[in-house]
Amino acid sequence: MCGIVGAVGHQQCSEMLLDSLKRLEYRGYDSSGIVTIHDNAIARRRAVGKLVNLDQDLRAAPLAGDIGIGHTRWATHGGVTTENAHPHVAAGRVAIVHNGIIENYGMIQQRLQGTGHSFSSDTDSEVIAHLFVEAFDAGLNPAAATVKVLAEIDGAYAFAVLSLDHPDLLIVARNASPLALGIGDGACYIGSDAIALSHLTRRVIYLKDKDF
Ligand code: GLU
Repeated sequence: MCGIVGAVGHQQCSEMLLDSLKRLEYRGYDSSGIVTIHDNAIARRRAVGKLVNLDQDLRAAPLAGDIGIGHTRWATHGGVTTENAHPHVAAGRVAIVHNGIIENYGMIQQRLQGTGHSFSSDTDSEVIAHLFVEAFDAGLNPAAATVKVLAEIDGAYAFAVLSLDHPDLLIVARNASPLALGIGDGACYIGSDAIALSHLTRRVIYLKDKDF
């Protein structure tokens, strides 16, 4: 169980997200990644190993955008590879980062594969992204989609979702895994530990289990 960070409304947020991930390094991790939305497209960088590797990738190819999510992974399902590093993206339009374990991911994955979803990682986490695609395709609004997804997944989680369907919105939820919101001036932040937010704002809200 490692680190999640996110921001909405923070100008060119990718550098800030990397900085927040560095503040979570003490928790240990094996890979990392960041996604932003810019010009109605999802852009992603992921790297195995230390954050310095992700840092180098971002310097070589910076990510624009004022909304984004980042992750440090401690692999539980699927090897330590770039393909298994978070964020995971489904259908090119929903990106997720997840800490924890989705116990019933196998059943969900099978069901979704039967309806044409194709998976690109060996993680338990990727089902969350596909469940949101399915819910948005069914016409559900973000709150109703989240309620539906939470009813389907079992296990421990803190997750954050970005979607081209709602490009100004960051969806978060938690159960048995920590997640805090930081309220800034014109921007909101999330982090799996308030340490990731302390340099950004002092107004921090701790989510409780099943909050979203
Ligand atoms: N279970 C997920 C994975 O293996 C998330 C691990 C984590 O909490 O970093 O990718």
